[in-house]
Amino acid sequence: MKLKLPPATKRFTLRPNPIPVQLWSLNLRNLCEAKVWFKLREQTLEQDNYQCAAQGCHTVGPLHCHEDWEIDAEKRTQRLKQLVTLCEKCHACVHFGRTLNVETKKFTQDIIRHYAQVTDISVRKANKELNKVLTKLTETYNYFSPWTISFGEWLPLIRKDRLTALIERAIGQVRVVNNSFKEDKRATKS
Ligand SMILES: [Zn+2]
Repeated sequence: MKLKLPPATKRFTLRPNPIPVQLWSLNLRNLCEAKVWFKLREQTLEQDNYQCAAQGCHTVGPLHCHEDWEIDAEKRTQRLKQLVTLCEKCHACVHFGRTLNVETKKFTQDIIRHYAQVTDISVRKANKELNKVLTKLTETYNYFSPWTISFGEWLPLIRKDRLTALIERAIGQVRVVNNSFKEDKRATKS
């Protein structure tokens, strides 16, 4: 089974990108059948030549398949942009909030050094940058207002029963649009 993948952009700038708390669990990995996710993961790694796609990194392992979400905190929208291969350390930089919460201090320090190396800045600056973005975004995410999420071209791969259950649990905090936000606007008008 070969799943149709949208073309990979092959460009990924490493930066922390925390997922709004209301949208935790609403990801492709959680909502697809395990075998579908496995296939997507395999194809993504193959497309990226089995190396980390973050600019300035190119580590060959261990590798993760990262869901690259475009998050607009002001518009309260989150859109799945691409699937991209990231090494374990770059992935931990992107989800730095999670790293801080669940990983050891030693691992977290290692991640800060990795971020500094990949983005070519000092460790001191890396530490400041990772924590600053996190604080700023966490503040924006915390107030009560619903989010709109778009799975784009990946939507047909999602198990609708799982999606419905998670949306119901979010009690008015999240709504899902079929594809782009633009199309959804037209649909609402008609
Ligand atoms: Zn990497």
